[in-house]
Amino acid sequence: MTISSGYPLLVKGRRLVERLDRTLAWSMPGYCSFCLAGTAGNRPWCEPCFRALSWHTSACPLCSEPRPASVSGSMPCGYCLRQRPNFDDSWVPFLYEGEIAQLIQRFKFRAERRAGQVLLQLMLQALELRHGPLPVQAIVTADLHVRRARERGFDQTLWLGRRMARALDLPLYRATRLRLTPTQRGLSRAARQRNVRRIYHVRSPLPDAVLLLDDVMTTGATLEALSRACREQGARHVTVCALARTPAARAI
Ligand SMILES: [Zn+2]
Ligand SMILES: [Zn+2]
Repeated sequence: MTISSGYPLLVKGRRLVERLDRTLAWSMPGYCSFCLAGTAGNRPWCEPCFRALSWHTSACPLCSEPRPASVSGSMPCGYCLRQRPNFDDSWVPFLYEGEIAQLIQRFKFRAERRAGQVLLQLMLQALELRHGPLPVQAIVTADLHVRRARERGFDQTLWLGRRMARALDLPLYRATRLRLTPTQRGLSRAARQRNVRRIYHVRSPLPDAVLLLDDVMTTGATLEALSRACREQGARHVTVCALARTPAARAI
């Protein structure tokens, strides 16, 4: 065998080893999901990787728009000052970039439950590190429209919502989509708001304070539509929560 004919085999072999490494990292408890180092306890990450994640530390308290650390923590962003969102506040622990974005993509588009588990645990850990628990009485998630759920084969928000509700000992309410809207990707904020106006319905009455849970928060247009649906069912305080915020989603 010549070197040139053996080379592709070598590359294939190396790719297989890399894939195996990744699979092992994702499936072995006691190892960091990001760097394969051994971890203490049951956490699927090591301390340096955990600290290096894209933590969302400086945000508008209302819409979680990322902003420079020098801006005061309680000051709403320019957009919220001009037009208050329908929801009351938001909490989003990560920025949608780096390892977090990769995890979310694995979870959302490839239905990797292990990635979902890591995200769930990161979310719960971030909640623990937050000052005090979130003052909510229920979690609300929006179902994917049946057609989109069939295309994708997996409703990631419901998956996450069920586990968050169980971990926090809160009831889970589901908002149904009344109609399918075109995908939100690539649309401006105004177009997104038009796209999702009155498309959600929550079936039963809600308690006073609810947590609206989504995977990624972009402009918040979907969450504003959901918030309106929650208020129609009696919610008086709506807190939005997502795993990650897309940075600089819109100009202010
Ligand atoms: Zn690590
Ligand atoms: Zn804002």
